[in-house]
Amino acid sequence: MLTGSFVGKGLRANLTDGVLRDFQISEDLFKEYLGGYGLAVRLILEEQQLKADPLGEKNILAFAPGLLSGTDAPFSSRFSVAGKSPLTGGWGDANAGGYFGPELKKSGYDILLVSGVSPKPVYLWINHGHAELRDAGSLWGEDAVDAELLIRCELNEQLAQVACIGQAGEKQSLISCVMTNGGRAAGRAGLGAVMGSKRLKAVAVRGEQRVPVADEELFNKVSLKIRSRLNPSPLSGLVVKITRPITPLLLRVFGSRIASFANENANGMVVETFRKGGTSLGLAMAVESGDAPVKNWSGVGVRDFPHSKADKISGASVTRYQKTRYSCASCPLGCGGLLDVDDGSFAAKRVKRPEYETLAAFGPILLNSNLESIIKANDLCNRYGMDTISAGATIAFALECYENGLITSEDTGGAELRWGNPAQVVSLLRQMGEREALGDVLADGVKKAAERIGKGSEKYAIHIGGQEPAMHDPRVSPSIGATYVVDAAPGRHTAGGASFAESMGTRLPLNNISLPKIHRYQYTGKGVVHRAWSNYVHAVNSLGLCEFGTSGLIADLPVLELVNAATGWGLDGYGLLTIGERVQTARHLFNLTEGLDPKRCVLPERLKGRPPLDYGPSAGVTIDLDALLRDYYTSMHWDPETAWPSDEQLQTLGLKEVIRRRRER
Ligand code: SF4
Repeated sequence: MLTGSFVGKGLRANLTDGVLRDFQISEDLFKEYLGGYGLAVRLILEEQQLKADPLGEKNILAFAPGLLSGTDAPFSSRFSVAGKSPLTGGWGDANAGGYFGPELKKSGYDILLVSGVSPKPVYLWINHGHAELRDAGSLWGEDAVDAELLIRCELNEQLAQVACIGQAGEKQSLISCVMTNGGRAAGRAGLGAVMGSKRLKAVAVRGEQRVPVADEELFNKVSLKIRSRLNPSPLSGLVVKITRPITPLLLRVFGSRIASFANENANGMVVETFRKGGTSLGLAMAVESGDAPVKNWSGVGVRDFPHSKADKISGASVTRYQKTRYSCASCPLGCGGLLDVDDGSFAAKRVKRPEYETLAAFGPILLNSNLESIIKANDLCNRYGMDTISAGATIAFALECYENGLITSEDTGGAELRWGNPAQVVSLLRQMGEREALGDVLADGVKKAAERIGKGSEKYAIHIGGQEPAMHDPRVSPSIGATYVVDAAPGRHTAGGASFAESMGTRLPLNNISLPKIHRYQYTGKGVVHRAWSNYVHAVNSLGLCEFGTSGLIADLPVLELVNAATGWGLDGYGLLTIGERVQTARHLFNLTEGLDPKRCVLPERLKGRPPLDYGPSAGVTIDLDALLRDYYTSMHWDPETAWPSDEQLQTLGLKEVIRRRRER
């Protein structure tokens, strides 16, 4: 009997022969892997042929709502897209909010597994539990924002939710992503290209099936408790207003300790500011503290992109363009914003507000302080379906190559590439989306671009195992460097780790578990913290909960109570962390069984502080990454040389048989 928060059913879609088949999923599997990419990695480990071509018919692409998606749990909107990444050659997953995940669950499915390659462009329409493939010939070539609207019109179903690709995915750009709700992106790992390779333009879903919860009364009570924790007092609104003019000064004096203070003492203030401007509020602080990369990771914010510039693309400068706010399903925070740029060459109407990662990726890393160009770049990425982090980082790489004569005006059609040129950023992005001119060289990210350009350009290609790192500098928070390298999907900032704890003192939101206090530049004794945080985050992601709400930004949310009320499983904190560890280990084992050497993922020298910066907050810092990695491996019971989990660990996590079966295939 189902106890709650899942349907117990998946759909397999083989696009080669067009066969669509339902399958049952036992409660035991949810108990071990939750949903989202946790469930996806378990099924893919069992079903996918070893060494499948990521852009071939054997790669299985999963669309998986989180375990709590489709219920009314606060923050439960997120779904994962997962499969073998064509960008890194290893495990790939990415997740997005919006409304698609909950709708897929309400249409009757916990997961969709797509294999094969369709002979012609198609989209999959799942309507109240009935699935069919439909012709997408007329949609091929449409951007992701328009495709979504066109599909709703064709279906005559305005409530349908759509996950789709733009032109970048169709052209199999390795930095393309899966888009939903006009700008929510499952951005990383190049999974848009996998959809493109399958000629799958979109998945559209509609459903009203009730997703059960185990203890409705308790579930409603806990949900209400969470929502009420987010009600800012009138006082916090006033404090935010009064301190706004002196925020730059506070940032300069106290740096990220401000965020830490707010996190510990002022829930209402955090909620109020986040609700107003989302993560865009953090850009100036990140430049100031050295967290945001500057000039392809070679610069120093306070010198090369000073506050007078950073402030133009941060916080109030961004919200000035904001016309309205929007929210994901079941979210009490609602951090999204829609903007207008009324006129000029970057004019745009009701487009999504760029968040921190995007502002950094088209701002300081390119020395670009023109906000309107960044708003335009964000909208172009949403339409082409391109990962903003990878796209901005690849343009930064191109600018540095040009500066050093590795790309010349012959390659650019006569244009001189310059740092801080907003029109050029937009124009290069268009070329990448269309795979035209230099854009064709850049459209697959920095690693491929460096291979194409040659001439030693690899030294400017900042990537980890093929993927451009997120916009957070390990010289400021060394533990993010360890996460970038050890996670099965490298270069990710949403894979947990000890960085929040070391830079802001954030506490793990599980009451009965206390972790040792750690310091930023401490290199031993952190493995246990890294392990706990990454296990927690993999569990949260597999639950479909948004990390903004549940990973410490808002202190002490009763996440565990919510899970237990929804599932009836009676988990304690250690139980939840063990599930996260199982998910993390399964992702890691996907790569090991593919024959991938974890040592292929290295942190670029610049990000280690070799040579160290001569100025700014992280001047003189060289991080000891090897020590951090050793500690993490030991904590996870992974062999320091081979990276294989110990036999006992495989047994404890119930993965031994799964891996034996996979190796025999
Ligand atoms: S906090 Fe923002 S991203 Fe997260 S679920 Fe809410 S609206 Fe979506």
